[in-house]
Amino acid sequence: MNVHEHQAKALFKSFGVAVPAGALATTPAEAEDAAKALGTPITVVKAQIHAGGRGKGGGVKLAKSPAEAKQHASQILGMTLVTHQTGPQGKLVRSVYVEAGSEIARELYLALTLDRATENFAVIASTEGGMNIEEVAEHTPEKIHTELIDPVVGLQPYHCRKIARALKLDAPQTKKLEDFLSALFKLYIEKDCSLVEINPLVVTKQGDLFALDGKLNFDDSALYRHPDIAALRDPEEEDPRERAAKEIDLAYVGLDGEIGCMVNGAGLAMATLDAITVNGGRPANFLDAGGGADKEKVKEAFKLILRDENVKAILVNIFGGIVRCDLIAEGVVAAAAELAVKVPLVVRLQGTNAEEGRRILAGSGLNITPAETLAEAAEKAVAAAKGK
Ligand code: GDP
Ligand code: MN
Repeated sequence: MNVHEHQAKALFKSFGVAVPAGALATTPAEAEDAAKALGTPITVVKAQIHAGGRGKGGGVKLAKSPAEAKQHASQILGMTLVTHQTGPQGKLVRSVYVEAGSEIARELYLALTLDRATENFAVIASTEGGMNIEEVAEHTPEKIHTELIDPVVGLQPYHCRKIARALKLDAPQTKKLEDFLSALFKLYIEKDCSLVEINPLVVTKQGDLFALDGKLNFDDSALYRHPDIAALRDPEEEDPRERAAKEIDLAYVGLDGEIGCMVNGAGLAMATLDAITVNGGRPANFLDAGGGADKEKVKEAFKLILRDENVKAILVNIFGGIVRCDLIAEGVVAAAAELAVKVPLVVRLQGTNAEEGRRILAGSGLNITPAETLAEAAEKAVAAAKGK
């Protein structure tokens, strides 16, 4: 789960991670009041959406007076902000964060995440902050320092010193980084984060360190033990298809292709997306109906897939292990009839009672294209989506 920058910064602050002072505003008048209350010569008005790259998209603006902050807020509030992370449709800005302006000497990059390959935490640091870190990684990978932290050992002063050296910090700044990182690490562990990204971490002209931006991502599986974090969820920021899927407990990820997929098992679902892509098609979604998918689940899954107007064909790929293919077939037939599915339907059933399942499909009188292998199913679905 992601949260907004202002929420991340409130958490930073409560753990002792240095952030500039700021306040949330949902109207231009509130933004003006916030700027007045901050009382700094410069304030920054920042669009609150769950995406980065806001600066380049016109969602971060400096103001030299409360009146100017009000003016910026009236422009930014209600705008549909398009950045490299929002997709072309952009995101509607519902609130702005008004922050005390900082006198920036240097912009650095700092992130804390999990390195699954080595089973360590990883601090990723770079002197090239404020820019797109993916580009830095591609063109000048030597400018990215990764410090692995063994979870048994935890964050130690020597880790901090190594990171400070990589960031070219002086001695007093190194001490500040140590405090900064310790607080950040504590937050990461205590709140079950999966990612903290600060881009930029700034060194001010006065030599202070501040998190000027903040992205926090939490492990969904651990949210049950953090009701305070779960309460920060903003459903408006989520894909409506994914929100609906969550409500009925289906693992669904919306994609932008035209072949709807219903598969049981995450691995098989991934393989199905690959097979579609290899055959020149584009999947509309990832959907794992689960190992124990029943008739009701199948129907709900169909409804979800059909909500997506881009879907031109549906591929059902079920391996009968825990589930029986005949029951799935009954579910498919019932759902297709009840929902009056108009797009072509390609169904591949394998495993327990597959023969029986196929007979049910064939005898249904519905326009269902059967397939035996995954490759054949993908090929047929791609052809169907192209109207062939
Ligand atoms: P992002 O574009 O979504 O990543 O938003 P950021 O919070 O990172 O802001 C983008 C850029 O705005 C930063 O990299 C800074 O260069 C600039 N910026 C943000 N806050 C301030 C500030 O207080 N003072 C100054 N001078 N620049 C700022
Ligand atoms: Mn940023």
